[in-house]
Amino acid sequence: MAERITGHTELIGLMAYPIRHSSSPAMQNEAFAKLGYDYAYLAFEVDNDTLEDAVKGLRALKMRGSNVSMPNKTVVHKYLDELSPAAELCGAVNTIVNDNGHLTGHITDGIGFMASLKDNDIDVIGRKMTICGAGGAATAIEIQAALDGVSEISIFNIHDEFWDRAVSTVEKINTKTNCKAALYDLDDKDKLKEEMDSSYIFVNATGVGMKPLEGMSVVPDKSFFRPELIVVDVPYSPLETKMRSMAKEVGCKTMNGLGMMLFQGSAAFELWTGEPMPIEYMKEILN
Ligand code: NAD
Repeated sequence: MAERITGHTELIGLMAYPIRHSSSPAMQNEAFAKLGYDYAYLAFEVDNDTLEDAVKGLRALKMRGSNVSMPNKTVVHKYLDELSPAAELCGAVNTIVNDNGHLTGHITDGIGFMASLKDNDIDVIGRKMTICGAGGAATAIEIQAALDGVSEISIFNIHDEFWDRAVSTVEKINTKTNCKAALYDLDDKDKLKEEMDSSYIFVNATGVGMKPLEGMSVVPDKSFFRPELIVVDVPYSPLETKMRSMAKEVGCKTMNGLGMMLFQGSAAFELWTGEPMPIEYMKEILN
């Protein structure tokens, strides 16, 4: 890194708090180095109180852009000039691109999810998805899937503080895209089974399966799965979850959240540089 930074090197940031644990700086810098691109990616501890100043700094320093994570994803739009259609519909931004002082906010989580399906030869366009979740990851997936042409989305969530967000997501999808969306209570397991039975793909985009909900599953037992159903778990730590183990036993094709993580980074990389990450090389590095 010391050898490759010069007076021409452009800076890309990551604004979040806490953020020191993030694997994004290693991933992005590895990709820049591999392709010989003259950028450096650094993490900055920025919370809601310092966000406005940080974005002003991004403009003043003529940084190429930044990633944005919690707690700033749903706040940073206030300080930007433009939003992508997906960021507008999600009400969240995870990537800022600075084009000569004009700041555009994007959300690449859903783009990353859709790209990871394609990378696994899974074609969901024109098909039905059942998905659990109404938080950040789920909303980004639901909106991007609807924008990209998934025909029907059945969303399940528990009646917690995320429920109203799911109501709003369903309304946006039904009024702003050609996709048909509906919301159901995750406690209604008969309905969950019915919707999964008529779906091409089932996605868990809740925190269930990951610490502190490790060892739990949104799907009660393996009778909910059939071999043709594609089953995706968005959590990626641990890589193997109870839900995926059950789905594998039935013979389903399954995926964990690592692909979404890699491809959301690649989508941001492409927004800044015009080229995707060297994906096959990055997969080797991540393994
Ligand atoms: P969030 O806090 O915004 O949303 C949490 C979701 O989990 C909500 O829908 C909530 O209702 C649901 N939930 C919480 N407790 C539950 C329970 N006991 N039973 C059923 N549902 C419950 O979180 P998020 O940022 O959307 O992240 C969700 C998961 O996705 C996490 O495991 C996270 O690590 C993972 N994630 C993965 C990627 C990736 O790139 N693969 C990206 C973002 C998030």
